[in-house]
Amino acid sequence: MSDNKYFRFFETYTAEDVFVENENIMEALFSSLDEEFNRDYKVKMRYHRFYISHGDERYIVDVSKIKVGNIKNAIETIKSRYDRFDSEQVYDETVGMLLDVFGRGKEDVVFLNEINEQGVEINMVDDDIIGKKLRFCVYGRTFAISGRSMSKVPYKFDPSEICSLLKYARITDWFENDIECVVSKIFTCDLKTDKLVLLAEGNRVLDIVDIDKIDNKYIRSAKILILRDDCVKILILRNDYSKADIAGVLERLISGRDNNIIANSLPTTVTKPNIIIPNQVPYYRRPLLKITAGEFAELRKEVQRINKIKRAKFRDYLAKDTNEKMFGYGGVCSICSVEMDSVNSFAVKDFEAESISFADGMEHMFKFSIYMCYNDFYAAGGWQVEKISIGGMNPFMWLQEIVAAEEITPEFLHCNIRVKVSVQALDSETIEVRDAPPFDFILSPLLAAKWVEDNAG
Ligand SMILES: [Zn+2]
Repeated sequence: MSDNKYFRFFETYTAEDVFVENENIMEALFSSLDEEFNRDYKVKMRYHRFYISHGDERYIVDVSKIKVGNIKNAIETIKSRYDRFDSEQVYDETVGMLLDVFGRGKEDVVFLNEINEQGVEINMVDDDIIGKKLRFCVYGRTFAISGRSMSKVPYKFDPSEICSLLKYARITDWFENDIECVVSKIFTCDLKTDKLVLLAEGNRVLDIVDIDKIDNKYIRSAKILILRDDCVKILILRNDYSKADIAGVLERLISGRDNNIIANSLPTTVTKPNIIIPNQVPYYRRPLLKITAGEFAELRKEVQRINKIKRAKFRDYLAKDTNEKMFGYGGVCSICSVEMDSVNSFAVKDFEAESISFADGMEHMFKFSIYMCYNDFYAAGGWQVEKISIGGMNPFMWLQEIVAAEEITPEFLHCNIRVKVSVQALDSETIEVRDAPPFDFILSPLLAAKWVEDNAG
């Protein structure tokens, strides 16, 4: 009948053998049909098969295994033969089938990004109702994606300040009203994706771009697009960005890179960062090891070194482990064992206790400090230290023993303290002194070295 390869297929094989592998083969197939039947044929689709009829002739083509690489081309093949489809419903189903195949296994945002890159028109359907899903419309089909509706960023940015900052840093020549234009268009939605979508009136998608791919080159081509009146929204597909993060996006949009110039200029209420000590294993999860005299001497040197550092907080050094052996307290209170991520919640409280020194048989002050949470730190303001014993010893004996020891065994680090607590009822003048149960805690080796140093001389 014909030397056209598809018709040779039809003549030779049964329907199951005629496959359309991809959108290029599909285009070749329809071109052949157009040519062979002078565009006079009808297409129906059922169960992923095209049923093609021309007069009395019937042909079946299996499209169940089609792979679509370029959805725009695939749809174009179908669209240009719109009137050869048996009904609008068949046409719609075919478009839907191709979109399904193209989108299979792809995340919504990846899917949108790919079709955008292929030049397909995308519309974002969103009527700004809180809690409504974000929907995109592609070829008349709507894709709901797991995002809520868009909202304006809650942060305020001052365009004139941004303008002078960036001009001063010589990184942009944008005018203040250009910057104001960008600032006013920033919206967010919670798709948890680091991308920007430029939207026109009616939420037609003008462009989708990865935020970290916004560079000078992109801005050179997109600046006009961004500033144009028909670009009405610059939508960040995340809503968990901080003000500084949004400032970074703005700076990229204006200058093609983020040097933190805007972010660093933001007023901040942070007085000090939370100090986190990574990879710390709290001491209570480790066996206490023996420390050699040499190691203890090193720890005493470390205490002297820290004492000389201006503004050094001893707390930070007690929190941190100096090696795998000289454990630090990390985020664990040595008194109440409360555990917190940030070391800011901890303090070192200094105490003094009177005790008899064996050197002269007289009462002397023993100075010591304890690493504890701020809760205990404030409570310890009402403590009167009655008695302290370390390693089962009087503190002055402990000082002699630990300094002379060849090997410091874990017992040297067990501490027991007996305190009385001064209490005063709210709105009362009377202060009452109560006995408190004695408590035990463990000295970190560095803290033991500090106790030795603080009582030396
Ligand atoms: Zn505590």
